[in-house]
Amino acid sequence: MDFANFGVVSFTKQAKVAPFVDYLDQGKVMATECKQCGKKYFPPRADCPYCLSSEMEWVEIKSKGKLLTFTTVNYGPSGFEDVAPYSLGIVEFPEGVRVLAKIRKKVDVGDIKIGMELRVVPVVLSEDRFAYGLEP
Ligand SMILES: [Zn+2]
Repeated sequence: MDFANFGVVSFTKQAKVAPFVDYLDQGKVMATECKQCGKKYFPPRADCPYCLSSEMEWVEIKSKGKLLTFTTVNYGPSGFEDVAPYSLGIVEFPEGVRVLAKIRKKVDVGDIKIGMELRVVPVVLSEDRFAYGLEP
């Protein structure tokens, strides 16, 4: 086994949160919210680790959020050599979740600033492979 696909093949349809992939296919990035206690999760969870409820509902993350922090990777790890340099950021959304994702190349590395507004969008890698990324 090697790491050629690490981070590229991220989601399969064999999880309790499988609809997440269908939503990405529909152009939506979704979190889950616990119907019992109201906590929200991203990546989505099917069970609430806080109150142990399995009654969750899907919530779309469609607002712009604020970039809390970021880092730029200049020397990629195994499997990422060809994509470096790339930047990873954590964005806090008004929907109540934080998302860690790659900042898409639509933003020049030198223009990335803490506090800038970004949205999270689905990224189609191939016919049945999806990821998500951050862009203005
Ligand atoms: Zn809960």
